[in-house]
Amino acid sequence: MITHLKDRQYYIDLYDHSTVDDARRNIKYYDKFFDEFQKKLPTDETIEKPGNALILNVYYMQSVGMELLNRYENRDDSVDEWISSDELRDRRISNARLAKEPNCQYCDKNGLRIINKSLTHRRVNGVYNNHEEVLFMLHCPHCDKNNAFWEDGTVWKPNPTLCPKCNGQMAHKTKEYKKSVDFLYTCPLCHHSYKEKLDFKDKKEAVDPNYGKDRAHYCLLDKEFRDHLFGMRQTINDMAELGKEFEEKAENKHIYDAIDEIKKPKIAELVEILRPVLEKSGYVDFNLEKPEIGKDVIVGFSCLDSKSDRNDYDSKKTLQKLIRKELDDTNWRLMSDGVSYRLGCLSGRLRAYEREEDLKRLVMQNKNLTKNYKNLDSKNKSTNNIIKDKDGNEIIL
Ligand SMILES: [Zn+2]
Ligand SMILES: [Zn+2]
Repeated sequence: MITHLKDRQYYIDLYDHSTVDDARRNIKYYDKFFDEFQKKLPTDETIEKPGNALILNVYYMQSVGMELLNRYENRDDSVDEWISSDELRDRRISNARLAKEPNCQYCDKNGLRIINKSLTHRRVNGVYNNHEEVLFMLHCPHCDKNNAFWEDGTVWKPNPTLCPKCNGQMAHKTKEYKKSVDFLYTCPLCHHSYKEKLDFKDKKEAVDPNYGKDRAHYCLLDKEFRDHLFGMRQTINDMAELGKEFEEKAENKHIYDAIDEIKKPKIAELVEILRPVLEKSGYVDFNLEKPEIGKDVIVGFSCLDSKSDRNDYDSKKTLQKLIRKELDDTNWRLMSDGVSYRLGCLSGRLRAYEREEDLKRLVMQNKNLTKNYKNLDSKNKSTNNIIKDKDGNEIIL
């Protein structure tokens, strides 16, 4: 019976092998960059100069270091995943039962004995299925031949070898030697033929004298080197975060300038701003209530309508319009519950916005506040500190 599950070390070795292969491939990009960088260096500068060292470090991290850290961090999870996937495959095989007891395809007798089960992809109309199915190998004790059936009872069909010249089905003969087998393929239609040789000589894996050293290095078994890489990744992430912030500030300079321009009157000043304007339109006795200080500052107000010929609807609308217009260039807003009216007495609430995010929103909702800054060229980005990584992506330093 083919079993897939192997001991944990097998998967660890496999994972590390792949880490080393990738790293050996990628370090070449860094080595090349390093050589070119060194050649272009002004004669009075060394590679250790802080700016130069930073560029090299960033390039190293982008081409090799980040991936090494990722692989280090995902090592246990990947190994666990492989193990459970193989456990699952083994369980599928051991739980598989033939849908019906088949007769021998060659002598039609029954009483076949299962000699093997395996998971493999079934080929249907020349295309392999994505999912694996259990294939049973059975031995016939009567005619001594082997039969293969899929779990659902259908007979396994060998994949025909097709003639490369005319696409006919090739016939083949085998000749066995001690350490190899020769296959001679002949096409019955066009008589094209060729030979294939299968060697059993155990191929010795090429000796890789640096593997042990490279594995310890690239799989980050050395704590000092590992901590060094983690530190560099943190630095690069911090730099990127800072860079993004600068970029956002530069791109939205007109908004931030407008935020600086917003007037932020104190509560007492609101009375000075609103009272004269409202009085001019017939609203008298404008007063503020005690402010509620919470996440935002909210303050209620009231006033009296002195125009006896104004109905309640007009009175409310006019007051709202006046207040909105007057507070437009400030961080105060009339709250959405609006203004209420009873017997000529009007009241409502005002809210002050103080956090940068809120102010930004106020500015963006209000075209008047940004219009002065629209034409400023804010995209004067510096391109001096950009290098390209191995995939051609720009790294901004
Ligand atoms: Zn048989
Ligand atoms: Zn042919």
